[in-house]
Amino acid sequence: MTTKQTRPITISNSEGDQTAGTLHYQVYTKQELMSRAWKALGMFWGLAVVTVFIPIAHFFLVPGFLIAGPIVAYSRYRAAEAMESASGECPTCHQEIAVALEASDKLPKWTYCAANNDPIQLADA
Ligand SMILES: [Zn+2]
Repeated sequence: MTTKQTRPITISNSEGDQTAGTLHYQVYTKQELMSRAWKALGMFWGLAVVTVFIPIAHFFLVPGFLIAGPIVAYSRYRAAEAMESASGECPTCHQEIAVALEASDKLPKWTYCAANNDPIQLADA
């Protein structure tokens, strides 16, 4: 099953100030990765079947979905970690912040502090 994990990260700003933060993310098991990959493949190939019935558009939608299916499935399979959020103290305004992350986000990543929109960089500690 999916396990939620945390690891320490550093939060820095463009002036070089740095604070410690925590990264929250999910880790998938091999079995979950396989099932996520199959679901993606099924969804795309299902769309390919449905779009067969759309005149003219099916000339590019059907091959598009057929090709995209395995590509998306493979990238799902490779994404063993899904980012959730980062929390810590903003190095610029020193407020507690929590930054929502996209599942596919990779560190280091520039984002903004929720309190004052200060540009901050999240990086592995
Ligand atoms: Zn800030």
